[in-house]
Amino acid sequence: MPRAPLRLLVGVSLATSATLACAGEVDRPALLIESAHVMTMTSEGDLADTDVLLRDGHIVAIGRDLDPATHGVSRVERIDARGHVVLPGFVDTHSHLWTTTMRGRFGGTDGTRFFPVSTALGAVMTAGDIGIAMRLGALELIDGGITTTADFFDNVLTPAHAEAGLTALDASGIRGRLHYGGRDRSTRYPIDLDHLGRLAEARAPGSRVGLGLAWRLPRDRDDPANWAVRQREYDAARRLGLPVQVHVSGEPGPMFDALIERDYLAPGVEVVHATDATPRQLAALDAAGASLSLTPISEHRVGYGLTRLAAFSGVDRQGLGIDGNALAGSADMFATMRLAALTWTGDAREETAVQPRRLLELATVGGARALRMEDAIGSLAPGLRADVQLVRLDALHLAGHAGEDPASLLVWSARPSDVATVIVDGIVRKRDGVLVDVDLPALVREANASAAAIRSRAQAPD
Ligand SMILES: [Zn+2]
Repeated sequence: MPRAPLRLLVGVSLATSATLACAGEVDRPALLIESAHVMTMTSEGDLADTDVLLRDGHIVAIGRDLDPATHGVSRVERIDARGHVVLPGFVDTHSHLWTTTMRGRFGGTDGTRFFPVSTALGAVMTAGDIGIAMRLGALELIDGGITTTADFFDNVLTPAHAEAGLTALDASGIRGRLHYGGRDRSTRYPIDLDHLGRLAEARAPGSRVGLGLAWRLPRDRDDPANWAVRQREYDAARRLGLPVQVHVSGEPGPMFDALIERDYLAPGVEVVHATDATPRQLAALDAAGASLSLTPISEHRVGYGLTRLAAFSGVDRQGLGIDGNALAGSADMFATMRLAALTWTGDAREETAVQPRRLLELATVGGARALRMEDAIGSLAPGLRADVQLVRLDALHLAGHAGEDPASLLVWSARPSDVATVIVDGIVRKRDGVLVDVDLPALVREANASAAAIRSRAQAPD
């Protein structure tokens, strides 16, 4: 299987960060993570008792007993990482963060199915509700060690809703993309391409949060007018140089074939929920340089089928995703890896069918490759962006580990609560198990109030 080439990248210009960072960020002290077990997810492999030096949003150096002064660093904050595993932040290749305040609403009965319930609730969300749901969702991702998300925002009722979502992602501190979609899943309300274009133009190159297109194929594919709408959207995204995400759930066979026949597969196009894709379809995707996003928990939950990772092993660019914290239940990349591993071994009837490190690759460098961001994130090497998580190993459910390769421990035993520290773009967003500068009780109150208001609005007669 053509494994993702794990390149050691040293060519990223450090000057870029200085020009991009705002004045406040330039003033931050450098960070020295000391004496950790470092999983680089590069050809360098794991490095024991190793330091990682971060400055101005980049990884400056990785090595033993680093002396910041030799790297021109005078002001440094030291983070004692003894007993911790340091690894790249996880990459969530697909989410719907606007649904976060629908948690607990999908009950497995006809009246509580995900699609009708989320559509009804989504239709009455204000821009304020969107901002709350997306900020809550993004902070939960960070809390669980996820530093990048590609968010599929397919409920853009007005330009103000899109702006609220973008503002929420910016404010949360997460890296990622807002994939701008339509009002619903039909072609009745085409995506506001003018607004998307203006937002994309207003973003500085290299912004922590960028834009993309949340694209769908028409449900009624016999009507050429539907195709004309979708073609305009696709062409606009390509013209703007924006990545495109597209669902092939629902009728996966014909939808995937339509992508192939109409020549939509290309670098920068990510195909989501391809649980039943055939070898022929996957070969076409791979040959075109397109990517796969696999979201095992949600795909199992809504009945898209089993996410059999072995079936996708010929695809170069593939990563894992959460697909909405409410549908997945929570933003838990450890549980996502675990379910994918369980499905793989159970399907193969063979305990050794999958290696834990392969799951960790998919959750880090694999996801970065799926988003075509591997030159910036997904692994730890000098020159890459400083997106790093520290996992502490002293919880009850991690005790009894003799200190060998931690890959198996992370995949089979770890939880988001074990993520002690999360750094995105060189800024500490979670420290000693607590999100930084987040009033959690207020956030929870706000989220619950918004969820209740959405619910009562959805129940009120027109
Ligand atoms: Zn999705």
